[in-house]
Amino acid sequence: MDNEANLDNKRVPLQEIVANSDNNVEIRGSCAVTETNENAKSMRTNRAGERVWSLASFDIGRRLGGGSFANVFLAREKKSKFIVALKVLLKKDIKQKNLELQVIREIDIQAHLIHPNILRLYEYFHDESRIYMILEFAPKGSVYSKLLECPNKRFSEGVAGVYVAQIADALHYCHSKKVIHRDIKPGNLLLGQNEEIKLADFGWSVHGPSSRRSTQCGTLDYLSPEVVLGKTYNEKVDLWSLGVVCYEFLTGKTPFDCSNSHGICKKISKGQFSVPSFVSNEAKDLIRKLIVLEPDSRLDSIGVLEHPWILKHKTS
Ligand code: ATP
Ligand code: MG
Repeated sequence: MDNEANLDNKRVPLQEIVANSDNNVEIRGSCAVTETNENAKSMRTNRAGERVWSLASFDIGRRLGGGSFANVFLAREKKSKFIVALKVLLKKDIKQKNLELQVIREIDIQAHLIHPNILRLYEYFHDESRIYMILEFAPKGSVYSKLLECPNKRFSEGVAGVYVAQIADALHYCHSKKVIHRDIKPGNLLLGQNEEIKLADFGWSVHGPSSRRSTQCGTLDYLSPEVVLGKTYNEKVDLWSLGVVCYEFLTGKTPFDCSNSHGICKKISKGQFSVPSFVSNEAKDLIRKLIVLEPDSRLDSIGVLEHPWILKHKTS
């Protein structure tokens, strides 16, 4: 990989975390990742005596999920039995799709974010053919899977309100660090042990102190009009997506649903949508203050946290 130098094994303190943990989830299933590098089979330390992670440090369990170019597996660190999720990326794919910078960004940004509603990236390592991200395991899966299990694919207003508050809290933290997530959607919202939100997948995220950006990225249904229209944008894109997610939590559908992508883009750029009558007026008000064409007129994360509908459900 061209950017190999930038991906040299950097360490954040997984060692400390595993030492203090009492994490006893059982691993079942077959080993889905096979060891290829003989050298990686033994546990290694570097000159400073720090632990150097390799595939051999883990027992690999079932596949937790996967996306456009990653596979995620349940894994257990052999020595401590600490449970993690290993996100595995093929270097060949990254190179083919020119995604080196994107992967470096994902690792660099996520490793620096420490918040109860953001999935931790503890460390990463790589071998000849793959990059491995050692992630906090989210035992309750994704909000997307949970939504699919609900009647009419909808959450109650109480559940939706708690989730939206936690996402807004995570976004407030990201934005205060000049990080824009750019891919807020139910598949990237995972759930911790107590069903709390863990914002994940910083694959499209970006860090920039004076960010006015124009790269088109993210998932179409959740994209803001400024992104769809190729305009410059800022962190307010995440608030638009939060409005779309809130709408989906309460109605089971995305607001700009259409059979083809051209139709979705057209609806988004006009900001045309209607909220079904079974949604409460307070929730409607929040959605209508987030799905706003003009980014400067859109509510920010503090505005979400102070909204009456959120205050009503935040602690319920
Ligand atoms: P996409 O292209 O769909 O956005 P991706 O390739 O960037 O996906 P992720 O979104 O990070 O990969 O992960 C894909 C799926 O794997 C998630 O939707 C989730 O179901 C599962 N997953 C990822 N990380 C974890 C984790 N830490 N704990 C539990 N499950 C996880
Ligand atoms: Mg994802």
